[in-house]
Amino acid sequence: MPTEELRQDADRYLMNTYARSPISVVRGRGSKVYDLEGREYLDFVAGVAVNVLGHGHPDLIAAIQKQAQHLLHASNLYYTEPQTRLAKALVEHSFAKKVFFCNSGAEANEAAIKLARRYAHQKYGAERYEIITMLQSFHGRTMATLSATGQEKVQKGFEPLLPGFTYVPFNNLSAVEQAVSSKTAAILLEPVQGEGGVRVADKSYVKGLREFCRARDILLIFDEVQTGVGRTGTLFAYEQLGGAPDIMTLGKGLGGGLPIGACLATEEAAAAFEPGTHASTFGGNPVSCAAGLAVLRTLLEGRVLEHGRRMGDYLAQGLHDIKDRLPIVKEVRGLGLLQGMELTVDGKSVVTDCLARGLLINCTVDRVLRFVPPLIITQAEIDRLLDLLNQILGKRV
Ligand SMILES: *Cc1c(COP(=O)(O)O)cnc(C)c1O
Repeated sequence: MPTEELRQDADRYLMNTYARSPISVVRGRGSKVYDLEGREYLDFVAGVAVNVLGHGHPDLIAAIQKQAQHLLHASNLYYTEPQTRLAKALVEHSFAKKVFFCNSGAEANEAAIKLARRYAHQKYGAERYEIITMLQSFHGRTMATLSATGQEKVQKGFEPLLPGFTYVPFNNLSAVEQAVSSKTAAILLEPVQGEGGVRVADKSYVKGLREFCRARDILLIFDEVQTGVGRTGTLFAYEQLGGAPDIMTLGKGLGGGLPIGACLATEEAAAAFEPGTHASTFGGNPVSCAAGLAVLRTLLEGRVLEHGRRMGDYLAQGLHDIKDRLPIVKEVRGLGLLQGMELTVDGKSVVTDCLARGLLINCTVDRVLRFVPPLIITQAEIDRLLDLLNQILGKRV
């Protein structure tokens, strides 16, 4: 279908929830995607931090094809091997002892919120239900997760919100200490705020939260939907930030492009769920889990994790170099291959200019350009990005 016709039909038949860029993406290879007209784009969006192995990775495709031939779906009324194997792999490589699978990041956070409430409810009674979250956070678009999100623009028009959330400034330990009460069940945060403008939690802050929560039996929940699965240079961001959580959520990169979410927990926290308390029809879908296993195997055994870490350092250095030259760049921050560049001006037109030059990037909170390429990105491809950014931003000074 020609691009213009596709746009018209999309506007006509799809609910108006996205402002899409005017290209029709039809295929991808490595860190590049191609539109209907055959134009090539260097992909620093990666499906919003999803395609960690890039496009068309042969091991991922093979794992999906193989599983699809055996079984697409069987439900959680029965045992299926890919789900159990992926849970085992996640447990072996994290703090967690148990996993619940679902289909998206928001659902993973729903599971975490329910688990935290039930844990506190069972142990301390019905009055202990509150979850402290951070301003500028992002946890999803369902009613519970948008209520947990500390951004008014996500919540506006959907009131009444789910009660039981209190918001405090990010990276401020004493704000948390002041907000905690006998009602507090959990503290929920992203180790790096992604949608909120690529803001990295300080090590001392995470360490402080960890100790504070442990002393009061308050559950510490990390939303690693964006930061998890190698994005920040380690398998999970908490490994670099001075403390493991009690509950962690995953999504985005876990399936390498197939939908899957996961809620991981310590033995003690996980014990709050029992049959009948939480469920998902598609959760732990065999094909998505086979994809997840291929992703983890490729990251760990195929050394893509290590490569991504090196490329993250290289990208950060290049972005800092641009910042040192161009006053239009206010700040560069990030961890691994989750990097943000805050401009002194609105970033939307920069995104448009990049698109016209064959480069996909995106922009959060108006002024922060975000770079989340596949972890297989090469140094030459990063050089290409830096060169284009230099040209495009250089014109605006
Ligand atoms: C993307 C994101 C979510 C929501 O994930 P969905 O799969 O869109 O529901 C939640 N938390 C964080 C940190 C995210 O980046």
